[in-house]
Amino acid sequence: MRVVVVGAGLAGLSAAESLARGGADVVLLEATDRVGGRVRTVTLGDHVVETGAEWVDSTHWRMHELMTRYGVEREGEGMVWSTIRRWLFWDGIRYAGEHIADVDPGAIEELGRFDEMIDATGDAMPDPSRPSTHPEAGRLDALSLADAIDEAALGPVAQLFARRNSQGEFAAEPSDVSLLFVAQQRAQERAELERLGVEFRAHRVVGGLSRIVDGLWRDVSRKIDTRTGAPIVWIDQSVDSVRVGTADGSVVEADHLVLAMPLGPLRTVEFRTPLPSDLHRAVNGLRWGHITKTAVRFAHREWLRGYGTTDSVSQRLYEPTIDQSGEPGVLMSYCGGDGGLDLASRAEDERIATITADMRRVHGITADAIGAVSQAWPNSEFAQGAYSVYRPGEVLRYWDVLRAPWGRVHLAGEHVATCTGYMEGAVESGRTVAARILAD
Ligand SMILES: Cc1cc2nc3c(=O)[nH]c(=O)nc-3n(C[C@H](O)[C@H](O)[C@H](O)COP(=O)(O)OP(=O)(O)OC[C@H]3O[C@@H](n4cnc5c(N)ncnc54)[C@H](O)[C@@H]3O)c2cc1C
Repeated sequence: MRVVVVGAGLAGLSAAESLARGGADVVLLEATDRVGGRVRTVTLGDHVVETGAEWVDSTHWRMHELMTRYGVEREGEGMVWSTIRRWLFWDGIRYAGEHIADVDPGAIEELGRFDEMIDATGDAMPDPSRPSTHPEAGRLDALSLADAIDEAALGPVAQLFARRNSQGEFAAEPSDVSLLFVAQQRAQERAELERLGVEFRAHRVVGGLSRIVDGLWRDVSRKIDTRTGAPIVWIDQSVDSVRVGTADGSVVEADHLVLAMPLGPLRTVEFRTPLPSDLHRAVNGLRWGHITKTAVRFAHREWLRGYGTTDSVSQRLYEPTIDQSGEPGVLMSYCGGDGGLDLASRAEDERIATITADMRRVHGITADAIGAVSQAWPNSEFAQGAYSVYRPGEVLRYWDVLRAPWGRVHLAGEHVATCTGYMEGAVESGRTVAARILAD
């Protein structure tokens, strides 16, 4: 059996690996000259920084298996998300966690109640891989996270935290996130925590996540035909076969096609066999959230430790090098939703200048800035965003449609996983389509 896999991110690499192991003859086509897609580790001086994915959660067992396989270790203690309340920058003043109550005495308690309310939305979902199984699926999908924030009547500080959570976790404004999608994410995480019997923690890895991609790439490229710098530009499917054409005019014919690429770039591909109308709607409808990450390396670490929330342009600030040694250190701004998109509209040096100035203002940093990088994912031609976000109404409209095969064509990628939005989901989706094809 011959299979073409498009995209050498974690989804495509995982699909290719499983297919090759199952005896398929695989061709892997990647648009760029780099593998890994939205996993992109860089170095600033002797520090390692992730400009894309950064944390592996304790529930992400497939990622942990890959880490073990490639000898990639967790870095430091990891973190629980409540560390996000370590400090607050509000109206020009920085408050350590215990002083957040000085700004608004009820804020932390309100947020606790809100988090419980949001977590509870997932309680009644019997099968997180099929969110339509929630008994209130229709009602929840019609609502947004903004509706839940309104209902909780949060004060201004709790509202800022809730908005920053949405901009970080979903890369989108609360009004652009379906409450059924939130419920699905909570349900799938809780199911995994219970099944694995682990506590929630998110970990960075020593040396960077690209080490995992590099390991997979080494293994895969030994067994299959890999072609980089080969963006696909058209697809054609008949009863007997599927064909794809690349930008340099090559044509590859196969029994099955795995499209392990985000939907933004897929929308620029010509479908010579028209997509069925429901799939066409879903492929054109599902959106990606926006994240711009900006990392600045300073000669000295003049900041509060821990993850902070700001009402400023940086949105959230934290230190990715907290478990790396040396006098210098790196601060990261993680900016999502409308703010991430707005930053992305500026040139990289302007983004770096803006965020560096904001970091100095927030923490009173006087140390020299000795290196920086800013990655605006909305500008990436072959990602066109950070990760998929199902907007109100879209879980019921698109979820099942995107996860079903279209004849010989199968979609893979974080956007069609149960663990949507994560590296774990990318690996999950690649293995799922490979198993389906091998069973054919
Ligand atoms: C800022 C940011 C932070 C994140 N943080 C985390 C995190 O902390 N933890 C976590 O688990 N996940 C995180 N993620 C999400 C994670 O990076 C993704 O879910 C995962 O890497 C997606 O893998 P993928 O294979 O589905 O897609 P991608 O990695 O996007 O791979 C798709 C590949 O397809 C290629 N391609 C596109 N178009 C074509 C074409 N026409 N022809 C051929 N090839 C094509 C692309 O070049 C790319 O290599 C983050 C993502 C971002 C952007």
